[in-house]
Amino acid sequence: MANEASLRRRLIGLYAELAAHTEPECAAHCAKPRTCCEAQYCALAIDHAKSHWHVDLVPTWHAALPLMGDDGCTAAAHLRPICTAHTCAVCEHGTKPGDPAWTARYQSLTRTIETIEAELFDDCERAPLR
Ligand code: SF4
Ligand code: SF4
Repeated sequence: MANEASLRRRLIGLYAELAAHTEPECAAHCAKPRTCCEAQYCALAIDHAKSHWHVDLVPTWHAALPLMGDDGCTAAAHLRPICTAHTCAVCEHGTKPGDPAWTARYQSLTRTIETIEAELFDDCERAPLR
Protein backbone atom coordinates (compact mmCIF):
# COMPACT_ATOMS: atom_id res chain seq x y z
CA MET A 1 0.00 0.00 0.00
CA ALA A 2 1.17 3.52 -0.72
CA ASN A 3 2.04 5.50 2.34
CA GLU A 4 -1.07 5.42 4.52
CA ALA A 5 -0.66 8.92 5.88
CA SER A 6 -0.40 10.42 2.40
CA LEU A 7 -3.44 8.44 1.21
CA ARG A 8 -5.45 9.74 4.15
CA ARG A 9 -4.37 13.30 3.46
CA ARG A 10 -5.37 12.86 -0.17
CA LEU A 11 -8.74 11.47 0.88
CA ILE A 12 -9.43 14.39 3.21
CA GLY A 13 -8.64 16.80 0.38
CA LEU A 14 -10.82 14.92 -2.10
CA TYR A 15 -13.77 14.92 0.28
CA ALA A 16 -13.34 18.65 0.83
CA GLU A 17 -13.43 19.10 -2.95
CA LEU A 18 -16.49 16.89 -3.20
CA ALA A 19 -18.23 18.90 -0.48
CA ALA A 20 -17.42 22.12 -2.32
CA HIS A 21 -18.91 20.56 -5.43
CA THR A 22 -22.14 19.27 -3.87
CA GLU A 23 -22.95 21.93 -1.28
CA PRO A 24 -23.80 24.68 -3.78
CA GLU A 25 -26.37 22.34 -5.28
CA CYS A 26 -28.24 22.55 -2.00
CA ALA A 27 -27.49 26.13 -1.05
CA ALA A 28 -28.78 27.49 -4.33
CA HIS A 29 -31.80 25.34 -4.88
CA CYS A 30 -33.15 23.61 -1.82
CA ALA A 31 -36.65 24.58 -0.78
CA LYS A 32 -36.26 22.75 2.51
CA PRO A 33 -32.57 22.84 3.46
CA ARG A 34 -31.20 19.80 5.26
CA THR A 35 -34.49 17.94 5.19
CA CYS A 36 -32.55 15.01 3.73
CA CYS A 37 -30.63 14.65 7.01
CA GLU A 38 -31.74 11.74 9.15
CA ALA A 39 -30.53 10.33 12.44
CA GLN A 40 -29.58 7.08 10.70
CA TYR A 41 -27.06 8.95 8.52
CA CYS A 42 -25.59 10.66 11.56
CA ALA A 43 -25.23 7.21 13.12
CA LEU A 44 -23.46 5.92 10.01
CA ALA A 45 -21.10 8.91 10.13
CA ILE A 46 -20.34 8.36 13.82
CA ASP A 47 -19.58 4.71 13.13
CA HIS A 48 -17.49 5.46 10.03
CA ALA A 49 -15.46 8.12 11.85
CA LYS A 50 -14.71 5.76 14.70
CA SER A 51 -13.97 2.63 12.72
CA HIS A 52 -12.04 4.16 9.81
CA TRP A 53 -10.52 7.35 11.24
CA HIS A 54 -10.41 6.65 15.00
CA VAL A 55 -12.35 9.84 15.58
CA ASP A 56 -15.09 10.18 18.20
CA LEU A 57 -17.72 12.51 16.83
CA VAL A 58 -19.41 14.30 19.69
CA PRO A 59 -23.21 14.63 19.59
CA THR A 60 -24.54 18.18 19.56
CA TRP A 61 -27.51 19.75 21.28
CA HIS A 62 -29.78 18.77 18.40
CA ALA A 63 -32.60 16.49 19.57
CA ALA A 64 -33.20 14.69 16.26
CA LEU A 65 -29.87 14.82 14.41
CA PRO A 66 -26.87 13.98 16.60
CA LEU A 67 -24.34 15.77 14.39
CA MET A 68 -26.32 18.87 13.45
CA GLY A 69 -25.02 22.11 14.93
CA ASP A 70 -25.94 25.77 14.76
CA ASP A 71 -24.33 26.23 11.35
CA GLY A 72 -25.02 22.85 9.78
CA CYS A 73 -23.33 19.51 10.10
CA THR A 74 -20.44 19.43 12.56
CA ALA A 75 -18.68 16.44 10.97
CA ALA A 76 -15.85 16.99 8.50
CA ALA A 77 -16.65 15.99 4.94
CA HIS A 78 -14.52 12.83 4.98
CA LEU A 79 -16.18 11.57 8.16
CA ARG A 80 -19.68 11.56 6.63
CA PRO A 81 -19.08 10.14 3.14
CA ILE A 82 -22.67 9.37 2.20
CA CYS A 83 -23.84 12.85 3.19
CA THR A 84 -20.97 14.63 1.41
CA ALA A 85 -21.71 12.78 -1.83
CA HIS A 86 -25.47 13.29 -1.64
CA THR A 87 -27.46 15.60 -3.86
CA CYS A 88 -31.10 15.29 -4.81
CA ALA A 89 -30.26 15.10 -8.52
CA VAL A 90 -27.67 12.34 -8.14
CA CYS A 91 -29.97 10.44 -5.81
CA GLU A 92 -32.83 10.68 -8.30
CA HIS A 93 -31.04 10.43 -11.66
CA GLY A 94 -27.49 9.30 -10.97
CA THR A 95 -26.36 12.50 -12.69
CA LYS A 96 -27.12 16.21 -12.72
CA PRO A 97 -29.44 16.46 -15.70
CA GLY A 98 -28.44 19.16 -18.16
CA ASP A 99 -24.99 19.68 -16.65
CA PRO A 100 -22.53 17.09 -18.01
CA ALA A 101 -19.52 19.06 -16.78
CA TRP A 102 -20.80 19.01 -13.19
CA THR A 103 -21.60 15.30 -13.48
CA ALA A 104 -18.18 14.48 -14.93
CA ARG A 105 -16.44 16.28 -12.09
CA TYR A 106 -18.65 14.53 -9.54
CA GLN A 107 -17.95 11.12 -11.04
CA SER A 108 -14.23 11.78 -11.25
CA LEU A 109 -14.06 12.75 -7.58
CA THR A 110 -16.18 9.85 -6.33
CA ARG A 111 -14.30 7.31 -8.46
CA THR A 112 -10.98 8.50 -7.11
CA ILE A 113 -12.30 8.47 -3.56
CA GLU A 114 -13.64 4.95 -3.95
CA THR A 115 -10.33 3.70 -5.35
CA ILE A 116 -8.35 5.15 -2.46
CA GLU A 117 -10.82 3.93 0.16
CA ALA A 118 -10.74 0.42 -1.27
CA GLU A 119 -6.98 0.40 -0.87
CA LEU A 120 -6.86 2.18 2.44
CA PHE A 121 -9.67 0.59 4.38
CA ASP A 122 -9.48 -2.90 2.98
CA ASP A 123 -12.96 -4.00 3.98
CA CYS A 124 -16.29 -4.73 2.41
CA GLU A 125 -18.37 -2.94 5.01
CA ARG A 126 -17.88 0.62 3.85
CA ALA A 127 -21.16 2.01 2.57
CA PRO A 128 -21.16 2.91 -1.11
CA LEU A 129 -21.07 6.63 -1.82
CA ARG A 130 -24.23 6.57 -3.89
S1 SF4 B 1 -29.69 17.09 -0.97
FE1 SF4 B 1 -31.66 17.89 -1.66
S2 SF4 B 1 -32.98 17.94 0.19
FE2 SF4 B 1 -30.85 17.73 0.86
S3 SF4 B 1 -30.19 19.84 1.29
FE3 SF4 B 1 -29.58 19.31 -0.83
S4 SF4 B 1 -31.23 20.04 -2.14
FE4 SF4 B 1 -32.00 19.95 -0.02
S1 SF4 C 1 -25.02 15.86 6.98
FE1 SF4 C 1 -24.40 15.66 9.15
S2 SF4 C 1 -26.28 16.15 10.32
FE2 SF4 C 1 -26.92 15.64 8.20
S3 SF4 C 1 -27.37 13.42 8.26
FE3 SF4 C 1 -25.25 13.68 7.60
S4 SF4 C 1 -24.04 13.46 9.48
FE4 SF4 C 1 -26.16 13.91 10.10
